[in-house]
Amino acid sequence: MTTSSDVIDDAPKANNDSSIPSATLGGEQKRSIEQITLLLFITVPFLALLAAVPLAWGWGVSWLDLGLLVFFYYLGCHGITIGFHRYFTHGSFKAKRPLRIALAIMGSMAVEGPLVRWVADHRKHHKFSDAEGDPHSPWRFGETVPALMKGLWWAHIGWMFDEEQTPQEKYAPDLIKDGAIRAISRQFLLWAGISLALPALVGGLVTMSWWGAFTAFFWGSLVRVALLHHVTWSINSICHAVGKRPFKSRDRSGNVWWLAVLSCGESWHNLHHADPTSARHGVERGQLDSSARIIRWFEQFGWAYDVRWPSRSRIDSRRDPEAKRSRGKQETTEAA
Ligand SMILES: [Zn+2]
Ligand SMILES: [Zn+2]
Repeated sequence: MTTSSDVIDDAPKANNDSSIPSATLGGEQKRSIEQITLLLFITVPFLALLAAVPLAWGWGVSWLDLGLLVFFYYLGCHGITIGFHRYFTHGSFKAKRPLRIALAIMGSMAVEGPLVRWVADHRKHHKFSDAEGDPHSPWRFGETVPALMKGLWWAHIGWMFDEEQTPQEKYAPDLIKDGAIRAISRQFLLWAGISLALPALVGGLVTMSWWGAFTAFFWGSLVRVALLHHVTWSINSICHAVGKRPFKSRDRSGNVWWLAVLSCGESWHNLHHADPTSARHGVERGQLDSSARIIRWFEQFGWAYDVRWPSRSRIDSRRDPEAKRSRGKQETTEAA
């Protein structure tokens, strides 16, 4: 195993075994039905999010609905950050089989597309970060303000509708070879459906009313999914356009502190691109990283092992001396 920033080198090579079925229903092509489903998954929760503010003002939000929203938000968010991202994409720790399966399901419940597609896209993002070939760089159209506005939209949402698909055989052969993982990836619609139905079921049973099921569905399913979508996509758009860059990386990734809690620690994105296999992204004192905290608990329970915790010397070796100088300058101006 190498520790280079090119994560693809870590993935076992494809064996071109065409007898293995595709890990997503759409395969390499995005068929129109899949495009429409994607559009629905994106727009319906987003409309709910827009409606949420005036409705909250009018009806108020019950503690139950708020609790369901927060619970399912962080369940899916950590499924993505610990599971899809740090574990499946970058191999920043090893997991016992039941944890591996649980992480695949939790991540699928974030309704961000099938596991294998997510991982393939993200490995390609690291391979080409902010250069030609990156599926979602906000710098795709140039550096002028209008080009960046267009690029931010592209990095946030537009790229998902691109006809060109990341080849899964090339970028995620290790996952395709695992039958259970391939099945969970193929069953994406099932997990998305369960994720949307569970809050409604709990809300209905607790209040013993259809209205309770409906408001729980609205807050715990639709608003929650919309919020999580936009926070996840902000890592692709905002964290590649703004933020501090104290570490050396060959792209424009930045650390954005105000997204740390909502993104479960993923917005320390400059460190992540400087050291992609690190299990911790928020490496400085006070940088909240709930995903790293939970990985540590998994390690203590014996469910996760060989965790790649970054040592102090490793972190220091990735610092950008240029950034330190400009940061020093900034601190003196702030103090003045
Ligand atoms: Zn990135
Ligand atoms: Zn990554």
